[in-house]
Amino acid sequence: MVQVIDNRTRRPGQEGRPAPGRGPATFTAFGLAAEAQPIAAGLYVVATPIGNLGDISLRALQILAAADAVLAEDTRVTRTLLAHYGITTPLVSYHEHSNEAVRERMIHRIREGQALALVSDAGTPLVSDPGYRLVEAAIAEGLPVVPLPGASAALAALVVSGLPTDRFFFEGFLPARSAARKTRLAELADIPGTLVLYEAPHRLAESLADAAAVLGPRAATVARELTKLYETVRRGTLAELAAAYAEEPQPKGEIVLLIAPATAETREAETRATMDDKLREAMKQHSVKDAAALVAGETGLPKRDVYARALALSKEALG
Ligand code: SAM
Repeated sequence: MVQVIDNRTRRPGQEGRPAPGRGPATFTAFGLAAEAQPIAAGLYVVATPIGNLGDISLRALQILAAADAVLAEDTRVTRTLLAHYGITTPLVSYHEHSNEAVRERMIHRIREGQALALVSDAGTPLVSDPGYRLVEAAIAEGLPVVPLPGASAALAALVVSGLPTDRFFFEGFLPARSAARKTRLAELADIPGTLVLYEAPHRLAESLADAAAVLGPRAATVARELTKLYETVRRGTLAELAAAYAEEPQPKGEIVLLIAPATAETREAETRATMDDKLREAMKQHSVKDAAALVAGETGLPKRDVYARALALSKEALG
């Protein structure tokens, strides 16, 4: 059996004690067994796969095996993962509704010298998943908080999106209702990086249509079922993707939606799209010339263009 030593392995005299009543901590991978040495007390934030069970680090397996308990969002989901790797660490439920009393119990266990591993159903805990308050509580108590990096749908999707990766903004889930969603999208419009959004399949077509209406003709990517059997990555403008998903049967599975940042061209197209509405409104109270001057000032579009458009609209209105 291979023995695995981590930078968190307990050293002689180090605070903490071996898990009571448990034999050596082991895990298996590729049919090989490994023994994980006891680890120091602390809260270990462990990323797990987002689909393909192979996407977990050896170090994560070692920590999950050596921890005194694994705090899981849904113990049934995590039991499957642990069983796959022959890990028998006890599971404790920790989810978004876990209250202060539960957190205090966890903090107490760490203070007593235990190592607790926090996982979510998939990917990196705390990323649109529970755990923030527990990490906050552990830090407030001066306890070690240790990251075990790994899969996250946001980054997996970003790197295959074909959209700019130098700067990006993780938004997570947009509001479920269209009006609130549009308001939020308008707030995100000027962010100078790729927007990364998590989306439910039954809302995808509607969200794409809202995004097209608010953000204009930007490039976008829909990344679905990453690392799984039916992994699909689809690219196009927001309007193209909105039209495609509006016609097709509702997509199944898990989805990340990514939207390119505004460019000078998309900004101008957006502004032009709203120019007509603004002109019609202004011409209710002002002459064509004054309305054009007002809208040109507001939008930053060339006065001559706005005036020409205002003239055309007023002729249209006269019949
Ligand atoms: N903590 C997770 C992470 O690090 O990716 C995210 C948890 S969040 C509750 C779940 C959402 O992540 C899904 O609704 C979907 O938007 C996205 N997601 C998770 N797994 C995915 C996958 N395999 N492919 C595409 N999106 C995924």
